[in-house]
Amino acid sequence: MKISNQARVLLKSQLQEWELAEKNYKGLEGVRTKAIQLPGGSKVEVQYNPERMRSSAAKVDAKSIQARACFLCEKNRPQEQRGIEFGEKYTILVNPFPIFQEHFTIPCVDHTDQLISVHFEAMLNLAMKLDDFTIFYNGPKCGASAPDHFHFQAGNKGFMPIEADYRKGDFVQLLGEKNGVQVLNWNNYHRGIITLDSISVLGVSGVFNQIYDLLAVDQNNGSEPMMNILAYSEEGRLIVHIFPRILHRPDCYFAEGDKQLLLSPASVDLGGVFITPREEDFNKISKNEIVAILQQVCLDEKSTQKIIGTILNKYIWTTQ
Ligand SMILES: [Zn+2]
Repeated sequence: MKISNQARVLLKSQLQEWELAEKNYKGLEGVRTKAIQLPGGSKVEVQYNPERMRSSAAKVDAKSIQARACFLCEKNRPQEQRGIEFGEKYTILVNPFPIFQEHFTIPCVDHTDQLISVHFEAMLNLAMKLDDFTIFYNGPKCGASAPDHFHFQAGNKGFMPIEADYRKGDFVQLLGEKNGVQVLNWNNYHRGIITLDSISVLGVSGVFNQIYDLLAVDQNNGSEPMMNILAYSEEGRLIVHIFPRILHRPDCYFAEGDKQLLLSPASVDLGGVFITPREEDFNKISKNEIVAILQQVCLDEKSTQKIIGTILNKYIWTTQ
C-alpha cells in the first residue's frame, strides 16, 4: 500500500480508538472560516480554531521547554497514539490538534533539536512518497511548539491557497534555472518566498543549501536562519516553497486589550490559512492586519529576488 494510504488508514483507526483525536477531528467540521482578499488580488483564509491555542501560545523559551516532558518522545506519547515508520528515522503520527482534515506530525525517532539542514533531504523524500500531502517545517523560532524535538508536519493537499496560486502562476516569476532546478520569486503576495521546482531531490537540496548559507550570513543570532518550508510533489516534480523569516511573532501578538491579535505565524499561515485560536481575533482580523503581520515576520519580495539573483549568479534589477 502506498504511504499516503497507510497514513489514511492510520488516521481512520486512530479516530476510533483515541477519544481526544476523535473529538478534535469532529470539532474541525464545525470550525468557522472566512476568506480575505489582499491588495494585489491574492486571497487568504482565516480559520477560527480554539484547540490550536496550545500551539499559538506555546512557550518555547529554553526554561519552559526544559520544565515539560517532551510530547514527541515515544516514551511520553499518549498511550493511544500509534505511528507508521518512515525509513529508520521518522514516525508518522496523527496530530491530535488538527488544522487539516488529515493532519500528521512526523517526529524524528531521536530527541534531537529542530534544525532543518540534516533533515532536508528526508523532507523531499517524504514529499515524494507521502504524495497526497504537503509536508511542512517550522523553524525553532518560526512556529514550532517543540523546538527541542525534530519534527515535520503534513496536511492534505489542496487546503493552502499557495498551492493553487503556484499552479496558476499569477504571482510567480521564473528567474532562472540551476542544476535542473527552476528558481522562482513571488510578487504582490506580501511575503518573500523562494520556490524551487524540479524532478531531482539532489538538485533541490543543492540549491536549498546555497539559500540556507546566504540566509545564515544575514542572521548570526541563532542556530539556523529563521524559516518555514512547504514541500510537496506534483506529477513527479518536487515543489518547495521557502519563507525566510525575520521575526518570530508580530507586534500584535504582544499588544494588550483590543489591540492584541493572538496569531503566531507558521508554515500554514504563510501558505495562506491564518489560524486564530480566539473568536474575537477571528472576528476582527482584516486585510490590514494580515498584510502588517506578513510584512513584520517575513523577508520582503525584493530581498528574496536578490537572494535568487546571487544563487543564479546574475544581476537582477530591482527598484529598491
Ligand atoms: Zn523528545
